[in-house]
Amino acid sequence: MKKDNCIFCKIANGDIPSRKLYEDDNFVVIMDLGPATKGHSLIIPKDHYANLYEMPADLAGEAMKLAQKMAIKMTDALKADGFNLVQNNGEVAGQTVFHFHLHLIPRYKEDAPCITWTPQTVSGDELDAIKDTILK
Ligand code: 5GP
Ligand code: ZN
Repeated sequence: MKKDNCIFCKIANGDIPSRKLYEDDNFVVIMDLGPATKGHSLIIPKDHYANLYEMPADLAGEAMKLAQKMAIKMTDALKADGFNLVQNNGEVAGQTVFHFHLHLIPRYKEDAPCITWTPQTVSGDELDAIKDTILK
């Protein structure tokens, strides 16, 4: 299903043009218009799901399989030195377009996007408490 006024629904279904790298029945892969690095692209499902929480599990699995295929092809073609997969859910996590997408970000020795973080200091007790919260 499509959602009215969703830019990625329009792109994924061809109502708005994009630079397509791949298409099948379920997904398109398009080049990001504001790339973090050379070749930064997005896997977008044709049906509208706001985020990972809403995606059917089998479609989420298919997205990861496609990510592997694209990562291999793009790394080879662009002579990248590494690759990040990034997938943001919710505003606090950096999501700005609320239609699921998986970022494909080729990395190069000289590039400079900030995709890492500074590790926090945490005690064993705190880790245990968090573990218990998740598993309860
Ligand atoms: P988010 O921050 O939601 O994880 O990522 C949204 C991404 O979509 C950003 O990297 C942004 O550059 C990209 N983007 C937003 N609007 C468009 C668009 O109209 N076309 C394309 N190709 N990319 C877009
Ligand atoms: Zn949508």
